[in-house]
Amino acid sequence: MGDDRADRIAEFIEPLRVEPGSTVRLAEDFDPGFTGGIREKKDGVELLRSGIEQLADYQRRLAAQDTYGVLLCLQALDAGGKDGTIRHVMSGVNPQGVRVVGFKVPSNEELDHDYLWRYARNLPSRGEIGIFNRSHYEEVLVVRVHPDNLRRQKLPDAARGPDVWQRRYREINDWERYLTDNGFRFVKIFLNLSKEEQRTRFLKRIDVPERNWKFSSADVRERAYWDDYQQAFSQMLSATSTQWAPWYVVPADHKWFARVCTAAVLVHTLMAINPQYPQVSEESRRQLAEVREELEAEAPAGAPPDPYAAEKKDNGTKIEKSKRSKKNKKNKKDAKRKEDAKHKKTSS
Ligand code: AMP
Ligand code: MG
Repeated sequence: MGDDRADRIAEFIEPLRVEPGSTVRLAEDFDPGFTGGIREKKDGVELLRSGIEQLADYQRRLAAQDTYGVLLCLQALDAGGKDGTIRHVMSGVNPQGVRVVGFKVPSNEELDHDYLWRYARNLPSRGEIGIFNRSHYEEVLVVRVHPDNLRRQKLPDAARGPDVWQRRYREINDWERYLTDNGFRFVKIFLNLSKEEQRTRFLKRIDVPERNWKFSSADVRERAYWDDYQQAFSQMLSATSTQWAPWYVVPADHKWFARVCTAAVLVHTLMAINPQYPQVSEESRRQLAEVREELEAEAPAGAPPDPYAAEKKDNGTKIEKSKRSKKNKKNKKDAKRKEDAKHKKTSS
């Protein structure tokens, strides 16, 4: 992959990145309607297509290398577009290499453990891309906005004092650092939706019968806490965007743009890992050559010793021939055009 492309992607996602150590005020710092100078949806769709292709290639290499794992954490308010983003961005990737996990209200078993337990148990393995549809960040978002959730977590008194959120930010940063140091990379995306676009999407879920299932009246009750959530998101972004696991605030009012950005941040991370197919040793290569000889000796009468190599050679010749014939045609056309032009000049 050319450095040029890597530079362009880095430049494209730069405005979305939360600078570690900076203080975020969502409403002032990030515009949910931003489309990064891409004027038309069709240009965005074209970009997404190329991003999906690159992701598929990187995912194959990541799996073959089996050294690094990648975890995409998607956070958003209701109707922010998490499900659609996952569906589109991962559409070209081998399902065997990806694991999507959604996190809901914690179960009794989960509440019997420390708050990071259920996230740790669902981490991707080496070679995998994991996706968290909601993540450990709910522990400083919904749990903070609705303190009832914290009460249900059965914490000792000393662990639920007023410093609980600052402590959780630190613990989350430390946990992510530990995982990063051990070969797991975080891609943290916040899909930033405007209040008006959320209203429109809720209404669509009510108006279109096939979308009714996606709507719950609880979603509207959550909407009443809009400002509390904006504040919780702002503080979370300020405290947990780190050099090793930075946050990206992705404008989400245009679904197509949110998908392009998410793919770009993922590709950017995979480019930095730059996974390679394992090198085959001299010894293995020698063994492969020996086995080839044995297999070729087994060819039945009339069959080529190596049908795959024969077909490849045949195709190669066909492509060469077709290239040559195209070139000849083009040369003839050019010559005719020149001849015609000369003719015109002399006759005028
Ligand atoms: P959905 O993603 O629409 O299926 O909804 C999942 C619900 O689970 C959302 O309302 C979240 O706020 C809620 N949820 C996710 N994680 C937690 C958590 N740690 N504590 C309490 N509620 C949570
Ligand atoms: Mg929901």
